[in-house]
Amino acid sequence: MDVETAKVVDIQLVQSNEVKNSYAMELEGLKRCFQFLKDKDIPISDLVTDRHCQVKKLMKSDHPDINHWFDVWHVAKGVYKKLEALGKSKKYKMAGEWARSISNHAYWCAASSGGNAELVRQKWTSILNHVTNIHEGHGDLFHSCEHGDISRKWIKPGSKVFREMEKILCGKLLLKDVGKLSPAHQTSCLESFHNVVNFFAPKASHFFYNQMKARLCLAALHFNSNSCRPQATLEDGTARYRIAFPKGRKGDAVPKEIKVKQNFNYIKELMEEVVVRRLQFTTIQQAEAALYEEMDAPPPSIRCYHP
Ligand SMILES: [Zn+2]
Repeated sequence: MDVETAKVVDIQLVQSNEVKNSYAMELEGLKRCFQFLKDKDIPISDLVTDRHCQVKKLMKSDHPDINHWFDVWHVAKGVYKKLEALGKSKKYKMAGEWARSISNHAYWCAASSGGNAELVRQKWTSILNHVTNIHEGHGDLFHSCEHGDISRKWIKPGSKVFREMEKILCGKLLLKDVGKLSPAHQTSCLESFHNVVNFFAPKASHFFYNQMKARLCLAALHFNSNSCRPQATLEDGTARYRIAFPKGRKGDAVPKEIKVKQNFNYIKELMEEVVVRRLQFTTIQQAEAALYEEMDAPPPSIRCYHP
């Protein structure tokens, strides 16, 4: 997906029997996307992914010229879950109380630092001072917090809960990756695309390769036709919102923009394509044979036997 235009540029379908294990599917899909864009002479300057080890390795070895960023949502969610789990035990309750603020802090660190790795790191680690009511002296690039007066339940420096939180927030691997948190907002877009895919290809149903590919293409067409819809307004021009209760927020309400109605303009283009195919092939058998050749599907992973 091109994050600046919120358009799906390419989709790759990898069947589990095409690779060694299901873990390798994501990497294979990425490799194929790279190949597709290369064949089309489309250059890539930046790539945003999760912190998948094999992807990190691939980018380092095969694409050192591309800036590889990590998606903030995955990092923030990971930290939130760990703090929340820690907070379940009574003596570490404070960790749970701070979990949401710290997860939000990850977004702010990434979005406010223009991709400067050291600045993001200093902002990130400043949270350990902040939770103890120390708001300055964080680092040479980020000296003091930017908030005004606040009052909260602070944590005692050096206490057991502080030390456990430090382990989570300043782990060696996490600190290394925090510097590469994507400064651009991208996740909500990809999440919306996944929702569209789930609509066209519900996970509860099984689809054979060609069907699945067709459904993915439809999802991409639908998404690209609708990804940049403006916000809906009332007659007097007031912007419309609704209240949502996302799962991740555990009952907390968040305001969401209501967009103008979806369009299905791509259907007209598809119908035109059907007419072109009809003129190109005189029988359904010929059209089907050509389609299977074009699709080049791998052998099915499930074989059906008829007694
Ligand atoms: Zn502070």
